[in-house]
Amino acid sequence: MFFFFAGGLEQQVRQVLKSGAGRCISCGSRADLVGYEKVLKLFFVPVWRSPGKEPAMYCDNCKLFFPQSYSFPPPPQIDPSLPDVLRCRFCNGVVEPDFSFCPFCGSAL
Ligand SMILES: [Zn+2]
Ligand SMILES: [Zn+2]
Repeated sequence: MFFFFAGGLEQQVRQVLKSGAGRCISCGSRADLVGYEKVLKLFFVPVWRSPGKEPAMYCDNCKLFFPQSYSFPPPPQIDPSLPDVLRCRFCNGVVEPDFSFCPFCGSAL
């Protein structure tokens, strides 16, 4: 049996929430904060829609959706009173120098 499937799941911008809210993680150009929905298309006809739970960032230049958190990385929390402690490079938790795994995130140190 020959089965022809011309479609796929696409993400589409539903509404622009904030224009120029961040920068594209791929090309560095202006990205908008958008509400989006997932659209399943069959033969280029939308047959199913599912709104995204959270707003996402969208770059119009390279048509890329990416999570908002990628655009605004939280500043690393460095406590100036403890300059010599060893910190996990993944979660920034304070770890003992003889630990080989981070007790907070389980990463190998
Ligand atoms: Zn881009
Ligand atoms: Zn960690």
